[in-house]
Amino acid sequence: MTEPVTTTRPNLLDFDAAGLASFFVEHGQPAYRATQLIKWVHQQGVLDLDLMTNFGRGLRELLRETGEFRLPEIISAHESTDGTLKWLLRVDNGNAIETVFIPEMDRGTLCVSSQVGCALNCSFCATARQGFSRNLSTGEIIGQVWVAARYLGQHPKTQRRITNVVMMGMGEPLMNFEAVVPAMRLMMEDNAYNLGRKRVTLSTAGHVPGIDRLREECPVALAVSLHAPNDELRNELVPLNRTYPIAELLDACRRYVSNNPHDQITFEYVMLDGVNDTPRPAWHSLQNESDPLQSGRGGALSAVHARSDRRLSSRARQSRLIDHYPENARRRYRRCLWPAGRSRRGQGRAASGRKGAIGCLSGAGATGCWARSC
Ligand code: SF4
Repeated sequence: MTEPVTTTRPNLLDFDAAGLASFFVEHGQPAYRATQLIKWVHQQGVLDLDLMTNFGRGLRELLRETGEFRLPEIISAHESTDGTLKWLLRVDNGNAIETVFIPEMDRGTLCVSSQVGCALNCSFCATARQGFSRNLSTGEIIGQVWVAARYLGQHPKTQRRITNVVMMGMGEPLMNFEAVVPAMRLMMEDNAYNLGRKRVTLSTAGHVPGIDRLREECPVALAVSLHAPNDELRNELVPLNRTYPIAELLDACRRYVSNNPHDQITFEYVMLDGVNDTPRPAWHSLQNESDPLQSGRGGALSAVHARSDRRLSSRARQSRLIDHYPENARRRYRRCLWPAGRSRRGQGRAASGRKGAIGCLSGAGATGCWARSC
């Protein structure tokens, strides 16, 4: 296992607002310096201490001696004809991760990784095949947002902004809880990226204790990778199901929405031809009209539907896939995500007998499906 790059000085990007305030207080400085530093780094994109004009010389020297900024480095950036961008980022000498930006008419979604590789071994996932290397630090997670925001800011098409973040890249974010939560807090921090709670989504394969902890500590939007209507099949596709079967997972989802009844949970479902694209009855086995997950504004299972992008033509979707992925992978994506088109809310493509992604967050094909070369 490769360890994160360690130096004697802490990475100042590893701290959320509370952590940075404690850091300043420990060094004999007022806590409000944390807000100032967060504004410089995350709002202005400034890492050069000499440009931080409201810091005196003594404070700048103190920060130089006691901390540093370490960011992921861009190895390559690949832009699709429709503007979708994928970066390969180096996080240490032996490891790299992927981050993807998906622009749409009214939003820009950044898909962020939480681990190098993944230990959960979902059978359809390319990340699983590379095994698990290590957890990312908070600085490496928020660093992906920093790098993408700066890259997009320098891009000729400057209208492209990050309006949503999905923790849906490499890794299971709830198995790196300690680093992921401070990073998400920075995404939502007024003085940093200022994203609303519903604009930060954490996607999980179904880590039940993590879902409960997230509800208490950082209740962002939740997406659950379901991928099968029964335990027998889900045990094969998502081995974590053997530890947390569907009934336990749905109970955790009920608890999650019980805190905020107006919230919805998105269920993701990658359609695998002949594997999990069973017809309507299989879906009905999951559905129960009296279930609070089904009905009303808080109805989470009512969100099991393909979020087809009404503004994006199927030609545009195709260009994304073709530009980003090799031929052998493309063939499988097409099975997962095509044909594009509208589906009725609450029924989804499985219910309608058509193939496609269910619960796709971006509407452009869930990054959790195609960005991973499943
Ligand atoms: S689908 Fe997600 S949880 Fe499953 S192995 Fe891949 S990255 Fe891990």
